[in-house]
Amino acid sequence: MVITTLADNITRGFENIGDTVSETFFEPVIRLGVTGLSRAGKTVFITSLVANLMDRGRMPALLAASEGRISAAFLQPQPDDTVSRFDYETHLAALTSPDPRWPDSTRAISELRLSLRVRPSGLLSGLTGPRTVHLDIVDYPGEWLLDLGLMDKDYAEWSRMVMTSLERREEASAFLEGARGADPDAAWEEPQIKALAERYTETLHAGRDAGLSGLTPGRFLLPGDMAGSPALTFAPLPPAARPARRGLWREMERRFNAYKREIVTPFFRDHFSRIDRQIVLVDALGAIHAGPRAVADLQTTMTDVLAAFRPGTNALLSRLFLGRRVEKILFAATKADHLHHTQHPRLTAIMEALIREARDRADFAGAETAGMSIASLRATVEETREHQGRTLDCVRGTLLETGQQAALYPGELPETPQTLLGAAQTGRESWLDAEYEIMKFAPARLGLKPGEGPPHIRLDRAAQFLLGDRL
Ligand code: GDP
Repeated sequence: MVITTLADNITRGFENIGDTVSETFFEPVIRLGVTGLSRAGKTVFITSLVANLMDRGRMPALLAASEGRISAAFLQPQPDDTVSRFDYETHLAALTSPDPRWPDSTRAISELRLSLRVRPSGLLSGLTGPRTVHLDIVDYPGEWLLDLGLMDKDYAEWSRMVMTSLERREEASAFLEGARGADPDAAWEEPQIKALAERYTETLHAGRDAGLSGLTPGRFLLPGDMAGSPALTFAPLPPAARPARRGLWREMERRFNAYKREIVTPFFRDHFSRIDRQIVLVDALGAIHAGPRAVADLQTTMTDVLAAFRPGTNALLSRLFLGRRVEKILFAATKADHLHHTQHPRLTAIMEALIREARDRADFAGAETAGMSIASLRATVEETREHQGRTLDCVRGTLLETGQQAALYPGELPETPQTLLGAAQTGRESWLDAEYEIMKFAPARLGLKPGEGPPHIRLDRAAQFLLGDRL
């Protein structure tokens, strides 16, 4: 629609000018997007990153910190009044209490501004005094990125795609029966639409519980503050040749279009298009544990998620970005503290292989990318044990459910990622020749010394990649 296009362009145009002016003359701002599918570890990552930027004793690989150039780090009011503030204090309190707990996970978008007083490095160091760099951290569900795929589809295409993918799934049978039984031309009533939408949402939840990730619309799983609105109350239906104007099918189509217009577009326009640096967190170990289908699905979903970082491939994004781009993207496999460090390179290789296909297709419009395995909050210690004549590299921690100490040998990840990814493509229910265990560990009780943030694995390297050049 021409009017929307024009309005979007104008808003972005002004923002671009605003950004440039403030960067040149005032204080530079880095907008760091943190995303990943539900439970990937976004909340823990942001909480630990901020705590470790405030107390930098465990951040040697962040050069500005190890060179002593960061003199202060403090939280400030965020620039966007209409976005929730990331509840850093509550989340940190949960992790650092005498009885530590994992914080509540991300359910919608939130933001936090951390400001750093930094002395410039190199040639500039003698010429200018310390300056303030603002780090605006934007936390949002990865599920919302999947909705980008809806923007180029109409209701009929989307419905066809979803109905086909549901056919093979047992958990979808109740929904499919309802959708096929509905008369597309009959006058509709709200309870009928609500029931179909609820059944469809249940199907999406069941799919997610089975470890699947490519589920749309993303807001049906994480509705944020829009729960219950008509734009979130619709479902796919079988194709209809010439649907009646006031019938059920047309009403579903109308709501699908409202969802795209009122929910998806504003998110990409107001938030996503302003991000400079991005970290995508991936619970690769969780998917491996769930089995080959979950890994295959994760790979497809990663390709869909990554499409959002290639503005050229999507009309909406090209319009919003206006040639601007995300400068750096880090793909991080999280919860690496479930593995002994000897296996970390294999996890990183799997992570890189997962995104390779997407990366090979386009270079993310010139963004610099990297893959890593990290643990935002290390909940385990390493231990080598003898077991039935074998020496096993394990990790030990406190089990979340029982509070007991336990050692975990998660299984050996293959040397070449293709062994795993190839097996995932076969559609088998379980891995043939290997088993991958995972346990839920509670966060360890922390006795932090002054100047030290929470323990982590490679959080400092992640920070260096994402922010180092701007500090
Ligand atoms: P979000 O949904 O992406 O915000 O995910 P969270 O940050 O809430 O993390 C989900 C769960 O993953 C947490 O409750 C923890 O159980 C686990 N988790 C996250 N990060 C780590 C980590 O670094 N180490 C370990 N062992 N578990 C983690």
